[in-house]
Amino acid sequence: MSNATPSTAIYELGSDFYDEVLPAQFPQAILRYRNQAAAQEVDLGELTAPAWAEHFCHFKALPDNLKMPVALRYHGHQFQSYNPDLGDGRGFLFAQFQTPHRLLDLGTKGSGRTPWSRSGDGRLTLKGAFREILATELLESYGVPTSRTFSVFETGESLERHDEPSPTRAAVLVRLNHSHVRFGTFQRLAFLKQPDNIRKLIRYCVCHFYPELANLPDAEQAARFLQAVSQKTAALAAAWMMAGFVHGVLNTDNMNITGESFDYGPYRFLPTYDPQFTAAYFDRSGLYCFGRQPYSVLWNLHQLGAALASAYPDLPVAELLEDFSADFSFEVHQRLLKRLNLRNPLQDPAGIQTLNADLVANLFNYMIAEKVSFEQTFFDLHSGGIESRLQRSPLKDFYKQNSFAKLKSTLESFEIADARHAQHPYFQQSKACTVIIDELESLWQPIAENDDWAAFERKLAEIRSFRGVYNYP
Ligand code: AMP
Ligand code: MG
Repeated sequence: MSNATPSTAIYELGSDFYDEVLPAQFPQAILRYRNQAAAQEVDLGELTAPAWAEHFCHFKALPDNLKMPVALRYHGHQFQSYNPDLGDGRGFLFAQFQTPHRLLDLGTKGSGRTPWSRSGDGRLTLKGAFREILATELLESYGVPTSRTFSVFETGESLERHDEPSPTRAAVLVRLNHSHVRFGTFQRLAFLKQPDNIRKLIRYCVCHFYPELANLPDAEQAARFLQAVSQKTAALAAAWMMAGFVHGVLNTDNMNITGESFDYGPYRFLPTYDPQFTAAYFDRSGLYCFGRQPYSVLWNLHQLGAALASAYPDLPVAELLEDFSADFSFEVHQRLLKRLNLRNPLQDPAGIQTLNADLVANLFNYMIAEKVSFEQTFFDLHSGGIESRLQRSPLKDFYKQNSFAKLKSTLESFEIADARHAQHPYFQQSKACTVIIDELESLWQPIAENDDWAAFERKLAEIRSFRGVYNYP
């Protein structure tokens, strides 16, 4: 039983915020992915296969929902340069659902051209969709706040891309997200000097995503809203760091106000810990490399703050964002303990902090010195590094070396947090589940060559097999 009801909340904002658009007409609708668990959460689990295609490939409106798709307007900093020509160029908001807690959006990628397409074709490659499915499924299993891929259809079109062997197959993807309000949605309003619309958008965000701020006076609400977004964003950045995830393109149009990761382009999961690891081949300076991600999102928060300040000139942006770094460290500690299934047994706050910080430092020093697989190390050290598990790891020889001794003794200062998680079948295996680039390419190859999806389906089952063990909080 679901508690989701159709919603048209976006209409509260009015037509300054979006453009009604028509979806592309696709020659074919070949279902490649249907997220049944997500569908049930928004009461769409019962849709028949033809109805699913009608709605999520041909975009026939859902009952009591948006009458027409709307392409959302936004700007943003791309690689720290302001771009006033963005907006949904190959996607739109298709439907909304009200759940007991929050509003959910169904948005698309690859659904056709819009007024914001510029010279683009409005399309998504099948490989892009395949990559986004893997990212969202794995991040969800690692407990990272993420959009979920809802549906993918192959559309029968072929596309030209300079970064894929072309012509290449096309797809249309639907994602389920906690809002598509981007930092860049606010930036556009500041750029256009529309303070009333900034206030309106804050009210929309507060009403649907931060209701605990609803009764505050305007200026204070804006301040608390910025702080709340900062806190969520710090938690998101910490979650990425503890999942070895490199988003790749942390532009302000790719960050939303609910602290949920979305829009997966050239992302990577780290093979080994390397702060300078850069995901996007076009990120030549390494601006969005793994280790810089917290700084990048903080820079983005300052842009959001500047946009809010254009409507509230007294907003003390720098002061309001001062807690980011403490929030980030706190979240790193909590996330790490969750990922290792550990509990800090100390009582005094200073002692807790020191021991947690030692764990972070010793773990990352060890990983950088030994260049060991990122995810395998997290997997092996789950529940503190149980000896029998270390013995069957592909990395077992590393655990006999002196370099591991310091980390081992720090791990011994912690307790197992949840004995049931230590017993989970996933942790009885010897190998961690990850999707580093070589494996991703080898999963793609049979699809590209023989339209054989079997290895991909097996990988999804593996990724889902440990869902829940890393859920946080
Ligand atoms: P992204 O890098 O996917 O976050 O996209 C950045 C901007 O480019 C957004 O405004 C997108 O809508 C737009 N965009 C990206 N790819 C295409 C495309 N193939 N056709 C039209 N617009 C696109
Ligand atoms: Mg984007």
